Amino acid sequence: MNKEKKCISNSVKIFIQVIILSILGFALVLGYYKSNKTQHFINMSDNIQNISSNSRDELYTNYGLLQAIIYKIESTPDFQKNNLYNIFKQNSPKSAPITKLTLSDTKGKVIYVLDESGIDITNMYKGLPIQASLVEVASSVPISELDYEMKPSIYSDKEIDILYPLYKKKELSGFFSLTIDAENIFKKSSFDDIFKDNRIAIRNLDGSTVFKSKGFSEKSTYVDNIKMENVEWIVSIQSKEDVIGIISKKAMLLALLLISLFSFLIYLEWQLLNKGAHIKELTILKKEFENIASSDSLTGLSNRFGITNQISQHIECIKQNSLFAIIFLDLDDFKDVNDIFGHDKGDKLLQSVGSLLKKLYYTDHRLVSSRIGGDEFIVFFKDINSEKEVHCFCNDLLNSISNITCVDNDEINISASMGVSLFPYSGNNVETLFKNADVAMYNAKSMGKNQYRFFGIEMGEILKRKLSIGSKLRTLVNNNNFEPFSIVFQPQVHVSECNELESAEALIRWTDSELGFISPVEFIKIAEDTGTISELGNWVLRETCKYLKKLELDFGLKQNISVNISPEQFRVVDFVEKVISIVKEEDICTSQITIEITEQVFIDNMFECTKILNYLKEYGFKIALDDFGTGYSSLSYLSRLPIDILKIDKSFVDNIESDNHSLSIVKGICQLSHSINLKVIVEGVETVNQYDLLKEVGVDTIQGYYFSKPLTPEDYILYSTSTEI
Ligand code: C2E
Ligand code: CA
Ligand code: CA
Repeated sequence: MNKEKKCISNSVKIFIQVIILSILGFALVLGYYKSNKTQHFINMSDNIQNISSNSRDELYTNYGLLQAIIYKIESTPDFQKNNLYNIFKQNSPKSAPITKLTLSDTKGKVIYVLDESGIDITNMYKGLPIQASLVEVASSVPISELDYEMKPSIYSDKEIDILYPLYKKKELSGFFSLTIDAENIFKKSSFDDIFKDNRIAIRNLDGSTVFKSKGFSEKSTYVDNIKMENVEWIVSIQSKEDVIGIISKKAMLLALLLISLFSFLIYLEWQLLNKGAHIKELTILKKEFENIASSDSLTGLSNRFGITNQISQHIECIKQNSLFAIIFLDLDDFKDVNDIFGHDKGDKLLQSVGSLLKKLYYTDHRLVSSRIGGDEFIVFFKDINSEKEVHCFCNDLLNSISNITCVDNDEINISASMGVSLFPYSGNNVETLFKNADVAMYNAKSMGKNQYRFFGIEMGEILKRKLSIGSKLRTLVNNNNFEPFSIVFQPQVHVSECNELESAEALIRWTDSELGFISPVEFIKIAEDTGTISELGNWVLRETCKYLKKLELDFGLKQNISVNISPEQFRVVDFVEKVISIVKEEDICTSQITIEITEQVFIDNMFECTKILNYLKEYGFKIALDDFGTGYSSLSYLSRLPIDILKIDKSFVDNIESDNHSLSIVKGICQLSHSINLKVIVEGVETVNQYDLLKEVGVDTIQGYYFSKPLTPEDYILYSTSTEI
């Protein structure tokens, strides 16, 4: 907001400056333009001189004319005054502003006048010959000064008079004078231009006015002298426009220059301001981008990028002897939460964990948390004093997470598995520390979840083993080589007086030439992760069918065997077709096969799963829900599932001997299951006490070491035949 305000005030400042300069600039340009109109004025001196010489030319023209007339007069022996007019008319140019033509005798007495009205006044002298003796000098110029080469003389105010002595046979016989209208000369000459834009006054040296324009005032005039032959005039010129003098014009030019300079300065200022704002904006933007790039939008914690940066910077700053811990936290079975409650709830759960981790920082600034993806978090525990401190922290954190029991009014129980790597022991760079904390976390998961583990070198071995098992599985399955695998069968005994054998569960076994015996608990998960579970499962089903056939054909035993189907296998598109085709190919009655699935398959897609199971049931297969009591076992939806058997997990019954509560739950499950025609099998029964208690609460079938461990096919035949008998 502040930034915006500042930007606006800068803009306003610049805007005002630009406006003021623009106005000034405009005024000056206008003034300068106007001042150009006084160009005549500035160059007036030159003009006047030009005009004066032009005018003189005209005079000389007239003087030439005069000479021509005189020549005619002189060369005409019967010189008569009426001839004079004709002579003049013939030689006079039309444009000549000659107003009067006068002929005087030697004493100056006017004997002949031709005026501008064109009236021939010579009539009054008609018939009178001019006699030189009669001519009197009418000039102010003394006769003695007149000589043969006499030039026109100008001595009037409004008119220019040219006096010329007339000689006849070298004897002065009189004077010829020509009067030219001065004003007309000015008007018809180059002065005309000046008249358009200026007012003008022409005066004699004594101040008497020769010519004056209308409206001429003495203010702001330009004064100069002009000389024409013997006459000198004072010319005053006044511009009709507002006269701005040369000085002001120069000042204007200077001002324009200054304005340009100021404009340039404003431009620079604008650039600087902009640049400053720009840099500020860029810095803010950069920070915002950095924040976005380094934070997790869902939880508001930093993300992988952010925490990696922080740890890297921390490593650069600290000394090798200072300790810090990287705690890799992964929520247990988060996928189930998403699947059961939906992604919205899943997100809310992540937010709850996020705010819990955020609070850590407020209680202890050494704890910086981040969400690095999915349900994975990292807590960066700086400046730790001892390992013990981290142990305490991890225990507290596990407790806090398990205390999150409610998300948006839904009861969701959650736990986390955590792996810890310590700087510098478990790695001296972010990458190694993360990797090792991840390995430790994986170890915590495989140890049963809801716990933490510190990284140890041996854990790397676990990871290596996982990778090796995965690649071995792929090679075997791709080569269709199931030789290292075998199946064992664990009896399921009906709870009754005689505890007769009811059925068995097929359990896969793998003994590798290098790794030795590998538990299905270990490799089934890896097979699921590496995509080989489907082939393994199909192989177990086919082998079980073959075994059932053998029991039937060789021993007359028509039995039922349960086969475990992994959720991953269940998801395969042609799963049903494959199961049916195997059973058909091995010529086994579908009722001899129980398909064991876990709740996970319902969680994936309840509707689709129910459809598939109903289809299998129609075909005659039995369906058992395995590991009941470990997941989100809900009694409420049991009635809606197309299942025949409910298998209560071993963990559920482990403490029924000491815990009455567990037993009553098993009792309740049995009652409910029976009410909806479900058979109840309890797994992992090891002791007679457990057996007695379960028998008492109404369990239908028992599977466990109490009766038998999983048996090789041969041993199972022995077991079956002995109990049959
Ligand atoms: P599960 O399906 O729950 O199988 C029962 C497991 O409990 C078996 O372990 C069995 O040996 C063990 N068990 C039975 N009674 C007792 C008892 O009284 N005490 C103890 N401590 N354990 C008992 P196993 O064979 O190691 O199999 C482990 C898991 O591996 C199975 O659990 C099942 O989830 C998976 N699995 C085994 N074979 C297959 C298979 O062919 N396909 C699939 N998809 N999973 C299989
Ligand atoms: Ca099972
Ligand atoms: Ca089970």
